[in-house]
Amino acid sequence: MVLADLGRKLNAALQSLNRAPVVDEKVLDALLKEVCAALLESDVNVKLVAQLRQKVKTKVKAALEGGADKGKEQNRRFVVQKAIFDELVQLVDPGIEPYKPKKGQSNVIMAVGLQGNGKTTTCTKLAVYYQKRGFKSCIVCADTFRAGAFDQTRQSATKAKVAYFGSYTETDPVTIAAQGVAKFKKERFDVIIVDTSGRHKQESELFKEMVQIGEAVKPNMTVMILDASIGQAAEAQARAFKESADFGAIIVTKMDGHAKGGGAISAVAATKTPIIFLGVGEHLNDLEKFSPQPFISKLLG
Ligand code: GDP
Repeated sequence: MVLADLGRKLNAALQSLNRAPVVDEKVLDALLKEVCAALLESDVNVKLVAQLRQKVKTKVKAALEGGADKGKEQNRRFVVQKAIFDELVQLVDPGIEPYKPKKGQSNVIMAVGLQGNGKTTTCTKLAVYYQKRGFKSCIVCADTFRAGAFDQTRQSATKAKVAYFGSYTETDPVTIAAQGVAKFKKERFDVIIVDTSGRHKQESELFKEMVQIGEAVKPNMTVMILDASIGQAAEAQARAFKESADFGAIIVTKMDGHAKGGGAISAVAATKTPIIFLGVGEHLNDLEKFSPQPFISKLLG
């Protein structure tokens, strides 16, 4: 089920509350059944869904007790709706403030992720995003594994009018990353985005390389680029990267497609890491800032 359908189903479930003459445990159970089924169909982790059900039940227990009372009915409805809304927000909110780049200093952001997840595209999108907000931004292409990676960066950075650094001859990504970051720091760039190699699988070589690049450029923030369309696999992928790269933020890409999104949502809880942006298309401006509460509000329509 794609994200828009999830929103519609959740919304429909919440609307059914308004039609119930009395909000009692039976109505709550039926509502929670619908909400949980919708979340499971969207690939949200089973454990997280079970937790949500339990937490909502605990939260509304007091409000549901006390029998039918016309005056209290509205309050009961409100308490139940709010409990569900809050727990949906909790699903995408690990309660951790992500790093925020500051002007007048160099902020190094390192992007990691598997090949095809949209890493290179997202690096340019990020540079454009910060550039628009007055940060002098640039990209270092430290991907020497994929043929054509530097060309891709060069083309998209040129199109976006963003400075870039890379090499056709140097084969060591750690050297390129260190050189690029040193150069841009000297030139007083505010946001320096380091694009690293992605591989098809979570090969140990990839992780070793990421750790070495991290040690060389000392990023202020490491961002994992996660493809929303990979479904439940997102959680395991994020866990594996967290162990090696210890990223501090997630960007979920391809949210515009037929992605279910629940896998990426589960990755937040599994790694206790906040989502900072959503990729919503192939164009350079297709990047949306992510905040838990507005995201859930929008999802519910
Ligand atoms: P990388 O291998 O991780 O660097 O991935 P790329 O940046 O080369 O992207 C792989 C493909 O995904 C390209 O065709 C991109 O245009 C596409 N892509 C990246 N982000 C998004 C997104 O948010 N939405 C859509 N629809 N496509 C995207």
